[in-house]
Amino acid sequence: MAEPAIVAESLTYRYGNLLAVDHISFTVERGEILGFLGPNGAGKSTTVKILTGQLRPLSGRAILLGIDVARYPKQVHARIGVCFEQPNLYEELSGVDNLRLFARLFNIHDIDIAGLLHRVGLDGRGDDLVGHYSKGMKQRLMIARALVNRPDILFLDEPTEGLDPTSAEAIRRVICEEQERGATVFLTTHDMYEADRLCNRVAFINSGRIVALDTPHNLKQQHGKRMVRAEVVGPDGSLLTREIILDQPETAHQIADLFQHERVVTLHSEEATLEDIFIQLTGRALV
Ligand code: ATP
Repeated sequence: MAEPAIVAESLTYRYGNLLAVDHISFTVERGEILGFLGPNGAGKSTTVKILTGQLRPLSGRAILLGIDVARYPKQVHARIGVCFEQPNLYEELSGVDNLRLFARLFNIHDIDIAGLLHRVGLDGRGDDLVGHYSKGMKQRLMIARALVNRPDILFLDEPTEGLDPTSAEAIRRVICEEQERGATVFLTTHDMYEADRLCNRVAFINSGRIVALDTPHNLKQQHGKRMVRAEVVGPDGSLLTREIILDQPETAHQIADLFQHERVVTLHSEEATLEDIFIQLTGRALV
């Protein structure tokens, strides 16, 4: 069996006195989309920087595709694609020239620039100067740039943060296509819906530590409470809300009671969201 795409062994990083990443360990299998979900300042970007060889960990090791990143960064860089939240493109060049320049760095000559631009929804805009692009267009071009070397692992740091819905959706589509191609995706986000929808597994990160790591389904099963929310007619005719937690010994009795003693107008069952579970585990909201 192929070695895992990513093995993080007790990674630690400090900025001065601040312990930004605190002995983080996890494994990402090939072809998996792993979501790193946490609020601002949780340590997501610092972890990505360690995994991609931009920061050397204070302790621990990052092994990508069987290669130690800190020891053989060039070998690793040839096989990964990276997209950070802050645009780092050449604004005075066109989109096409940005991609060409990047391909040259990787010694890639058979790059299908039109195809890449098409995939990120930038058809017809490749010859415009990047300085004239919107934020969403720049982000989409950075995704295209991260795909130039057909990476085995794609690192995306908050790729849809602050984008218009069309750009965000275009990026999510590319993430799914990359997984279908066989790539592994490491995605940091504080968007719980995005994590829930796209990721095979999600790591909750808070204050530099992983507090939970599992499939969204298992996280909800283990930590979430399902409930029914009913709207009932109050004594003065106004609508009141009643909530009943499911899967408890008293649930059946409470539901029977509700229908016996109240006039129920609407009834919905609700699953816990990843945000609910994050708050339960850390006491903090994601945003
Ligand atoms: P965000 O969602 O805001 O990007 P994050 O989860 O990616 O947050 P990091 O950027 O990794 O978090 O930051 C982790 C901690 O390290 C934060 O407290 C942050 O303020 C601090 N930090 C990050 N970069 C630096 C730096 N260059 N110098 C000093 N402190 C830093």
